[in-house]
Amino acid sequence: MGEVLSFNDNYSPIGDLIVIATCIVILVLAYTSFVGKNRAFLIFNAMIGCLLVASFSDVIFHNIFTDTSDATLNFVYLFRLIYHAMLFLILFNYVLYVMEVLRIETSIKKKLTIVGLVVFLIITGVDAYGIVTGKGFHINKDASINTGKNFFALGYIFYMALIVYIMVFYRGRIYKKVMRGFFGTMAVSMVVLAIQGSHQQRSFTTATFLFPIIAMLYLVHSNPYDIELGAVSTSAMEDMVRYNYEKKNTLVIMSLYMKEFEEERKTFPKELQAVIRQFAGTFFKGAVLFQVSTGHMVLMAEEAHNKGYENTFNRIISAFTAEYEKYGYDFKVVYGLSKAEISMKNDYVNFLKYIYKNMAQNSFHEISDEDVKLFQKNEYILKELADICRGGNTRDPRVLAYCQPVFNVKTGRYDTAEALMRLKLQDTGMVYPDQFIGLAEENGYIHSLTRIILQKTCDEIKYLLNEGFLVNRISVNISMQELHDDNFCDDIIGIIEGSGIPDHKIAIEITESQNESDFEAMKSKIDILKEKGIKFYLDDFGTGYSNMERIMELPFDIIKFDRSLVIASNINRKSERMVGGLANMFAEMNYSVLYEGVEDEKDEKRCVNMAASYLQGYKYSKPIPIMDLKNYFARLDETA
Ligand code: C2E
Ligand code: CA
Ligand code: CA
Repeated sequence: MGEVLSFNDNYSPIGDLIVIATCIVILVLAYTSFVGKNRAFLIFNAMIGCLLVASFSDVIFHNIFTDTSDATLNFVYLFRLIYHAMLFLILFNYVLYVMEVLRIETSIKKKLTIVGLVVFLIITGVDAYGIVTGKGFHINKDASINTGKNFFALGYIFYMALIVYIMVFYRGRIYKKVMRGFFGTMAVSMVVLAIQGSHQQRSFTTATFLFPIIAMLYLVHSNPYDIELGAVSTSAMEDMVRYNYEKKNTLVIMSLYMKEFEEERKTFPKELQAVIRQFAGTFFKGAVLFQVSTGHMVLMAEEAHNKGYENTFNRIISAFTAEYEKYGYDFKVVYGLSKAEISMKNDYVNFLKYIYKNMAQNSFHEISDEDVKLFQKNEYILKELADICRGGNTRDPRVLAYCQPVFNVKTGRYDTAEALMRLKLQDTGMVYPDQFIGLAEENGYIHSLTRIILQKTCDEIKYLLNEGFLVNRISVNISMQELHDDNFCDDIIGIIEGSGIPDHKIAIEITESQNESDFEAMKSKIDILKEKGIKFYLDDFGTGYSNMERIMELPFDIIKFDRSLVIASNINRKSERMVGGLANMFAEMNYSVLYEGVEDEKDEKRCVNMAASYLQGYKYSKPIPIMDLKNYFARLDETA
């Protein structure tokens, strides 16, 4: 008794004890750092659990082996069996883990899971069978040991090979450095096992199972907090959304956008950080703060833990308003419950951005089902636009050319018109410019749309001319950003000449821009196209800040006075004289003045008195399908 038996000579509990301590440290870290909760994380936890049991069993069976009584030996056998089973269970879980992280298709995942499980059962079964029948691991009464056939190395190599195989086969799905991290730690494990084996040692086996677990925590699950703010990254947010969507949990969401920090990409000042930290910590239970970008933060918590969330929202809003007064930074706050449609696609960043786009500075907005509908429509339009753009068909039937005839004051006839775009999409029907022009501009699709409108306008002009209609020209709207494309002029000329109409039958409308590089681009393009006889309209004059000097520098033909000026001129005699004076000034400098948004006779009369050359508005016609333009234009024979 008390004398150490030969079996324990090459074992010291030090390895297992360190593994146990490290596992506990890892668990503490995993639960205090922000770890994406997902299936992989559950497997990760299972592996740590198995490793703890394995290490304990290893310590126990070595330490209770103090005599060779049957009772003692039975315990030794039992814990040794558990020890081995746990090690293989870790390896099996490692296979599951790798498949999860690599998003292996369900059918393949099932097959490999069965293979892994069967191998686990065979190895453990053989181990148990060997012990029970005495053919395997066996301790004799004189304390000498029969090790039996050693299946451990075989099983270990099988699992390692399977893991390497999966990783290599699906290497395209994993970031190279992450894969190297896994392979590196696996190699270290195998080397340590080999060294231990060559020294007849057994103390560090469990330690070698620890290395891949450390790699997982570090490479896959760690989402470092922003130390100052306590926020974590967007990918962590996606994990949280996915996890709760699968569990059918509703989330409470509060999202803050601050333009100043977003645009200048600078971090929040110290005082504001403290406020945000305090908000995140005090108002919701179990809330996690995510940093989407420098000026955009999202707070999420499970609704189940925050029953009185409506009250909380109100408290936050009043607290926020108080803080706002102190700092005065512009903000937008969106709050409310998660929506299944958005959670399903894990698309909160885009969803929130969409809401922000449509709300005023320094305001609060509660997420509604209507927002979801509008957002989805927006996404649908975007998808269709991308498809139209990719298709490159300049006669794409989804893009409709509408037209508004323009009344020529001098001749008393309609001889020009403005082309206006609409979309006609399967799911939404007719879509108007306010819902897609901005979107198309932001996403670089606008020029493809312009090409289509231009093509359809040219086709119609050709038809009208062939039929003997008098068409001076039709103007097409162009977005500023198109002018930055070096191919712009060739593209426009190509379409016009390709359709076989004279260049001067097309005019281009552009709005003013404050930007210096826009101005340069505009000037060079206008010069080239004017050579060809294309006329230029300055659109929406009077809506923004106008730089007269610049307007004069660009060779516009027609100045389009916006409807706001038509309305302004109606206030009193003085306002009418002002608008009229402006129009006269342009007229004297050989510009033609066109009034937009002429809605009734009164408008018309005033505009005619204010140097109008052209009139456009509902008084004459709403925008109509371009094929109906023939109802407005005169024929050559009619004028004779
Ligand atoms: P815009 O170029 O100023 O076009 C005139 C807008 O005023 C048109 O709206 C027209 O329907 C509307 N309108 C016409 N007469 C009246 C009236 O008497 N009263 C009032 N209140 N409004 C009138 P629409 O068609 O919805 O187009 C809106 C804007 O979308 C256009 O403003 C233009 O900036 C843009 N847009 C339209 N088509 C195109 C296009 O093909 N390309 C580009 N880049 N932008 C386009
Ligand atoms: Ca226009
Ligand atoms: Ca306009």
